[in-house]
Amino acid sequence: MSGRFGNYGGQFVAETLVGPLEELWDTYLAARQDPTFEAELDNLLATFVGRPTPLTRLRRLGADHGVTIWLKREDLTHTGAHKINNAIGQALLAHRLGKRRIIAETGAGQHGVAVAAACAYLGLDATIYMGRVDAARQEPNLQRMKLLGAEVRLVDLGTATLKDAVNEAIRDWITHPDDTHYLLGSVVGPHPFPSIVRDFQSVIGREAREQFLAVAGQLPDAVIACVGGGSNSIGVFSGFLDNDVRLVGVQAAGDGSGRLGHHAAPLLYGEPGVLQGMRTYLLQDDDGQVLLTHSIAPGLDYPGAGPEHSHLKDSGRVEYLTASDDEALAAFQLLARAEGIVPALESSHAVAAALRLAPTFPRGSQLLVNLSGRGDKDLTSAIAAIGQRREHSGGTA
Ligand SMILES: *Cc1c(COP(=O)(O)O)cnc(C)c1O
Repeated sequence: MSGRFGNYGGQFVAETLVGPLEELWDTYLAARQDPTFEAELDNLLATFVGRPTPLTRLRRLGADHGVTIWLKREDLTHTGAHKINNAIGQALLAHRLGKRRIIAETGAGQHGVAVAAACAYLGLDATIYMGRVDAARQEPNLQRMKLLGAEVRLVDLGTATLKDAVNEAIRDWITHPDDTHYLLGSVVGPHPFPSIVRDFQSVIGREAREQFLAVAGQLPDAVIACVGGGSNSIGVFSGFLDNDVRLVGVQAAGDGSGRLGHHAAPLLYGEPGVLQGMRTYLLQDDDGQVLLTHSIAPGLDYPGAGPEHSHLKDSGRVEYLTASDDEALAAFQLLARAEGIVPALESSHAVAAALRLAPTFPRGSQLLVNLSGRGDKDLTSAIAAIGQRREHSGGTA
């Protein structure tokens, strides 16, 4: 059955959404068969998004262990993260659907900014749902979305974070399915979103594979990416799934205690269940109540991962680890100081895992890290968190 990844995925939605989801899938499949759609998408990726993004070889990190670390630079895309790859693709698809009103949810604000930019460029109206807590953490992105002409609706329900913004966007779509496209930002939600978003993000893996072969004359020994909903990781992994390449997904360990409510790692600590239209690994209690999550990186602060990741976990093809807030903050500073690149806090989790794994690889190994976004949006919160930790350790850190 389409829309299934092993025991995961599916389409657990209100009756009113079955028709629009089917229309979306049919239109999408037809678009992908149409050379004019492909040509338009390629042109937008080249001239608006700024693709292909480069591969950067790190000069210092990893060198102590004789390991070479490469970064796939999604931080250099327009609007500063991989989210734009999917936003521009779905905005183009909305044109085909004849829908001029776009709604979207955002956590870190990166998806909201990408949607607002794509809609402004393609002449669509954007309404973005954002939890009030996230909006406070990501004030510059809130301003950016407004400047780009989007209407931002702040959500006060629940924990006022990403999960609640998704719920509100779904509610909006149920009441306006005919003229509105829900531009979902990750490989989550009901079929066909996990497949469509994966396909639009697979450009990362295609480019990375080709670039790696060109500069290194081989495939990488491992590919490492952070996993929130799971789109940047699925995108980069898709280029290497059929090869003998170790694939590592990194979830947020939060404070590192492993206690429920203190992390955002459903693929390590969760159980299968149904949330927001999909069956996948979730953080929930014995009564099926979805639990609170915590990560210093707002883009990772979500209680479920996409259904394809749940399948890749069970099959063992991808291994899932965690990095904590502290490890991410350390990697954030290290990459900036040692290599001249300020990563997003989300991406810092992948960098942290690469640094931890580097000594376990034989000398001469080549690791590829997907740098999903840049850290400008995180400067205020990261600097504050670093300052707090210094105070706690008596100013010696
Ligand atoms: C949104 C975001 C993520 C997490 O989303 P995925 O769907 O797991 O990729 C990671 N990094 C950055 C920079 C983000 O903006």
